[in-house]
Amino acid sequence: MSDIGKLISGFRVFKSTTFPQKKDIIHHLVEQGQQPSTMVISCVDIRIAPAEIFASNPGELYIINNIGGFVPKYGTGGIHGIMAAIEHAVNDLNVENIIVLGHAKCDSIKMVMSDKFSAEKGGLSESMKTWLSIVSEAREAIKKQLPDKNEEEQQKACEHESIIISLRNLMTYPYIQKRMNENKLKIFGWHFDIENGEIMTFNPDTKFFEPIT
Ligand SMILES: [Zn+2]
Repeated sequence: MSDIGKLISGFRVFKSTTFPQKKDIIHHLVEQGQQPSTMVISCVDIRIAPAEIFASNPGELYIINNIGGFVPKYGTGGIHGIMAAIEHAVNDLNVENIIVLGHAKCDSIKMVMSDKFSAEKGGLSESMKTWLSIVSEAREAIKKQLPDKNEEEQQKACEHESIIISLRNLMTYPYIQKRMNENKLKIFGWHFDIENGEIMTFNPDTKFFEPIT
């Protein structure tokens, strides 16, 4: 069966099972629109969709996937798509939680840590480099602070550091800062490890990632 054939076959399964099973939820979404309480900002190669990881029903999550699951600083020129999506979730849909969901074995972080990132010629495209530069600070810190660690350890450190940068960048959005001050919004930095199915959460008090049990 071709890949498209598999999709069509999967759609038929959805239509005959999930769709009727969740018809009340779907009907509500049709009538009322979506009212997700949580936005998840994740990566295009996380491999397991956030809705599946969190066993969510349709409409429960507002999901943004991009390269690396990064959040740029507020007002960064030329990167407006994600800012509009964040603004819509926070200001129009009033989400109460934002989860920055990084993950293990991330190809985007691999590119950030690669020699191609800093290559003058034959490196990454301009658009890719502009986007990945959101977390270039993480690359520099790890190359400087952990030069003796192997590639895998450096990659994991960069995955964690990138989540922290995105959390910090979220705080530069004035409307996010305002809602956090009013206790209407919380932000979380989580790291999903596909190998063992664990999630680690960033603890801003200890500055460490700790397992969610
Ligand atoms: Zn990734």
